[in-house]
Formats: sequence, structure tokens, C-alpha cells
Amino acid sequence: MSKVIAVTNQKGGVGKTVTSVNLGIGLAREGYSVLMIDADPQGSMSISLGCDEPDSLDYSLATALVNIINDEPVDVAKGLIRHPEGVDFMPGNIELSSLEISMTGVISRETILKEYVDKARERYDFIIIDCMPSLGMLTINALACADSVVIPCQAAYLPVKGLQQLIRTIGRVKRQLNPKLEIEGILITMVDNRTNYAKDISAQIYEAYSSSINVFKTEIPLSVRAAEISASGSSLYQYDPKGKAAFAYSAFIKEVMNNGTKNWAEVKAI
Ligand code: ADP
Ligand code: MG
Repeated sequence: MSKVIAVTNQKGGVGKTVTSVNLGIGLAREGYSVLMIDADPQGSMSISLGCDEPDSLDYSLATALVNIINDEPVDVAKGLIRHPEGVDFMPGNIELSSLEISMTGVISRETILKEYVDKARERYDFIIIDCMPSLGMLTINALACADSVVIPCQAAYLPVKGLQQLIRTIGRVKRQLNPKLEIEGILITMVDNRTNYAKDISAQIYEAYSSSINVFKTEIPLSVRAAEISASGSSLYQYDPKGKAAFAYSAFIKEVMNNGTKNWAEVKAI
């Protein structure tokens, strides 16, 4: 049985891509087969996984999705890149941007990515989707085909309003498109433990949400090493195996593997 996890937050710079990379590779290190999908036109995850120029690729996620829209057969394996740390990834690039605009006129526009992902489910234990910083059609597509959502949330300001909008969107997708969608949890990232401010924010997120949504006990610390991995092409486990961020992401993965999800009736009340 495969599990599809979308890493989503419409705010940019909150740690979605770093979380996707270290979640996917972390699960591969636990022995699972993992496919990672870059659903952001900026191609940040592709670049972080060592694909230097995603925009010049002949085949990427956009190509596969265009094939689906045109009712052409799709070979799930086509265009996949194997990363040395044991995951496959489907790169994303700027073509996703124009595709997203043209998607709006397509029948079943919310479930185009689902066609690709459902085929890929046969081959992988986990599929991780790194989403773009918006709640546009590509993100809706990711939510429509995912089993659960991880919400990275930066501990640098109080992001309650943004989170509420995201949670409402997830609830709408669950009701209208994907009844089995669950929130895996909110992951607090870039925590600077030297400041009381970060601790206050963590406490506030916990207080506001933990009764209805899982808030991961593991917090990802602010770490220069974490910021450097995009340029290194590797995960934190490889780049800085003894560092605090690698340690935190390992603990986060243990939580994901043991996770039960909380009651949606309460979530809807938010
Ligand atoms: P998003 O995908 O949500 O836009 P990223 O994962 O790209 O966010 O992270 C935003 C920026 O913060 C990047 O420059 C990244 O390298 C950096 N970053 C991510 N996680 C951490 C962390 N734990 N500590 C310090 N910097 C981080
Ligand atoms: Mg990103």
C-alpha cells in the first residue's frame, strides 16, 4: 500500500522544500521506495536534488501532465531521475506555470496529477509532493491526490491567519474531491531556540491547533546546514549527519511513520 504526502503551505520560505527533500530521503533510508514530485514551477526541489537547470529539461512533470490532459498514454517512469541517496524524483520547472493557467479550462482539472500519481502508487511505498507557495490549481491537484498533508510552518511570526486559510482549503478539497485526505500534521520549522520569541510562537501554534490537528512534537531547528543543502544536492543526513537539523528530521520521520491523524470534525470547526 502506498502513501502520498503533500508538503503544503501557501506561504513561501517556510521550509517546504527542505522538508520534502529530507522527508523523502529519510523514508528511503528507512527502507521504503520513494518517489518525489516537484510541483513548484520554481523547481527548487529539483535543484536541491542536484538537477541544476530544470528549465532546460525535455521531460518534466509538466510534460507528463500535458500528456494526461491530451488523453495520451503516460509512462510513469519516463523523465524520472534517480538520486544517489536512493529516491526517484520527477522534476518540475517553469512550464508548470503556463500549464497551471491552461488547466483552468480542462475537464476534471483538479484530478490531472491524480492520474499520474495513482499510476505511480503501484511502484512506490511513499510519494512526496513538494507544493508551490500558493493555493492555485497545482496545489489543489496535489491535495486531490494525496492521502495526507504535512504543513511546514516557520516559527518566525504568528502565521495563524494563513494556516486557517490553508486548513479551510484542505477541508474543502476533502469534502468535494478527496474524502480520505487527512492532515498529517503541522511541522514547526526554523526554530531559533536561543530566543523566547520562537518558543512563544511554537506555544501559540500548539495552543491554537493541537486540540484538532496533530502538531509534530519534533521542531526543526534553525540551522545554517539546512540552508546549505539546496546548493549541495544532498540531504542533511549526507551533508551534515551529526547536525541538529538531520537529527530533528530523523525524529520527524519517526513521528510520520507512527502517525495517527486527529478528528476532522474538530478541524472543520476551526
Ligand atoms: P519553501 O519551500 O517553503 O519556500 P524552503 O525549504 O525553500 O522553503 O526554505 C526557505 C529558505 O530557508 C531556503 O533558503 C532554505 O535553505 C532555508 N531553510 C529551510 N529550512 C531551514 C532551517 N531549518 N534552518 C535554516 N534555514 C532553512
Ligand atoms: Mg519550495
